[in-house]
Amino acid sequence: MTERSLAESFRRLIASDGPISVAQFMGESNACYYASRDPFGTAGDFVTAPEISQMFGELIGLWLADIWIRAGSPARSIYVELGPGRGTLARDALRAMKRAGLEPEPHLVEGSPELRRLQGEAVPGAQFHADLSTVPEGRPILLVANEFLDALAVRQLVMTEQGWRERMVALDAEERFVFGAGAQPMDAAVPEGRRGAEVGTILETSPGAAAVVSEAARRLAAQGGAALFIDYGHSQPRIGSTLQAVRAHKKVDPFAAPGEADLTAHVDFPSLSEVAQARGARWLGTVPQGTWLRALGIDARTEALAAAAPHHREALNAGRDRLVEPAEMGELFKVMGLAAPNWPDGAGF
Ligand code: SAH
Repeated sequence: MTERSLAESFRRLIASDGPISVAQFMGESNACYYASRDPFGTAGDFVTAPEISQMFGELIGLWLADIWIRAGSPARSIYVELGPGRGTLARDALRAMKRAGLEPEPHLVEGSPELRRLQGEAVPGAQFHADLSTVPEGRPILLVANEFLDALAVRQLVMTEQGWRERMVALDAEERFVFGAGAQPMDAAVPEGRRGAEVGTILETSPGAAAVVSEAARRLAAQGGAALFIDYGHSQPRIGSTLQAVRAHKKVDPFAAPGEADLTAHVDFPSLSEVAQARGARWLGTVPQGTWLRALGIDARTEALAAAAPHHREALNAGRDRLVEPAEMGELFKVMGLAAPNWPDGAGF
């Protein structure tokens, strides 16, 4: 679908049926956005950690191999990645795992046909899934999701003079998209402690992220295994909208070109760790990406690679700095670890 047609179809829909929810706007915009393009890298819209440095995927692979070995090296384990992008992380992680004696069958959960094609090239023999439901049962799972949860549609509630309402996308007199409030009372959806908030207060939840983490946790408890969810987000509960749009490496108005910009929201790690534990998984911790990568030895790894390829030293250091420095990705990005109840602790938590 082209830019004009998605914006146009939203306009027609709102004009005929009334405002649509923020969740519907975000969900349909991102489905359209990812379906038809490779958005990664300097020529695209944004750069992710595995595209910055091979060390990111390698250290994730080593983390998985380490916990798998300490769990007794269970046979027939599978590698599952959610939203693998170009397949770079999977390729780097699988290579590192292989050196550690672990060769899990790769299963990739991806919605976009264009990205499936790239992932198939990066990971020969990968099996594809539209969601977790078709991933094999009964085998231990080593699961990774980097910048996946932030792309799932959030639902927003807004406090109005009349009480809590769903936050909607409406049209103004000039047919521009504007935020509005739904007609139906939503107070029952708001935790009691928050009900008396000031008018204008926004609460954001991600039913999609909760569903994914819930299913992953159920699988870990039933099948054994461990999971890493890496994303930008907060480690304390918060209020307010974090919806943002990125296009060509710049923040843009989420309404400017639906389907042509990447819409994301911060991941609410505290509520996801509760969801996971309620489903029987063990929460290993949620720590800043920089802290985690340093604990796993990214500095020594940078040094080893630089010693082997001195002309790459500067680029290797620069990549490491982008991943770990607090002013770059080191602090805003968090790593949440989960495991089966009878699996050991994870390194770096
Ligand atoms: N993990 C990759 C890509 C992150 S971008 C990296 O770090 O580079 C988000 C990824 O999730 C893309 O691969 C996108 O196509 C996929 N995705 C987004 N929403 C999805 C959904 N609802 N179902 C399946 N895949 C989805």
